[in-house]
Amino acid sequence: MTELLDVLKRRIRAGGPIPVSEYMSACLLHPQFGFYCRKDPFGSAGSFTTAPEISQMFGEIVGMFLAQVWLDQNSPGEFTLAELGPGRGTLMADLLRSARVVPGFREAAKVVLVEHSPELKKRQLSSLDERNIDWVNFSCDLPDKPLYLIANEFFDALPVRQYVKRQSAIEEIRVGLDNGRLVPGISRLAPEAPDTRDSDIAGSEIVELRPSAEAVLRPICEKISEFGGVALIVDYGDWEIRGSTLQAVHRHGRVDPFSSPGCADISAHVDFKSLSGLAGEAAVTEMTTQGEFLLRLGIRERARKLSKNLKGRALEEHAAAFERLTSPEQMGSLFKAVAFYSCHFPLPPGFSK
Ligand code: SAH
Repeated sequence: MTELLDVLKRRIRAGGPIPVSEYMSACLLHPQFGFYCRKDPFGSAGSFTTAPEISQMFGEIVGMFLAQVWLDQNSPGEFTLAELGPGRGTLMADLLRSARVVPGFREAAKVVLVEHSPELKKRQLSSLDERNIDWVNFSCDLPDKPLYLIANEFFDALPVRQYVKRQSAIEEIRVGLDNGRLVPGISRLAPEAPDTRDSDIAGSEIVELRPSAEAVLRPICEKISEFGGVALIVDYGDWEIRGSTLQAVHRHGRVDPFSSPGCADISAHVDFKSLSGLAGEAAVTEMTTQGEFLLRLGIRERARKLSKNLKGRALEEHAAAFERLTSPEQMGSLFKAVAFYSCHFPLPPGFSK
């Protein structure tokens, strides 16, 4: 797919090198050629496999988590059950099925999905087999009600800007052209002032900032502190991120993020410290690993139960999926979780603090 490459080349020739965030955003969400806006970006030859696509257990545990917090918060009678960036809709489908065991939860929930891609909205509609769903483009459009929300591998898709400090001046890394190829480099264009304290950008290391995280997370935390609820965020990242973490995956393999815009899934690790700093009046848990979180919420027992009906190849695949989700060598440690919740209610389950 060279169309997006041509679009970007024209843009850079006309206006000069573009911020990494503008590049990332075009790669993922360009209305015609963005990765998520193409027909079935997660097809069988798709680029990556997210936790809910690995096993139904992930969505089931998230469903139990949200339903438990709902119970702990005195089961509000009408609430929003939301997901940011639901992909194929698999997580929400598994979540809704598992939460059916909690009386009253499904009936009180209005499902609202935050999604930009028209192609993925169609896909979500067919996976969910539900009529009573709304879509919004932005989290600030979520209803003024108690909010129970999951975001899995969403924040890593939000564009990052990259800065570096040279001779005490802050410079921005921008994507320009070199012999017709897209390349990142320090731009001579004066950078717009980064929205951060100067001390955050020290030394010669690249610093990534994700300006749109605030516009996404602040309204969510405000709703939670005003009306009650919880937002569970699970993503690839760590408490503090250093250096450039921009990466692209195409057909399950790593590729150069600048070589094939629009064909690969492009993301950057999530800095949980800066996300936690956006809590405002909402309480925030400590960060934990995905493995710990799932094990504390009973994924091992669930895995055992499901394995009773399986044998041969299916049983092996099920055991491998459990390992993949929880083992420290696999997604168990690379992925982390935090929850934002109403400070009037107990700590959500799965977190130690
Ligand atoms: N959560 C899913 C898929 C993650 S892929 C899973 O776990 O399988 C990222 C998802 O976020 C896609 O659905 C993509 O279209 C959506 N997305 C990416 N950037 C977005 C943005 N700025 N606003 C709304 N949705 C976005």
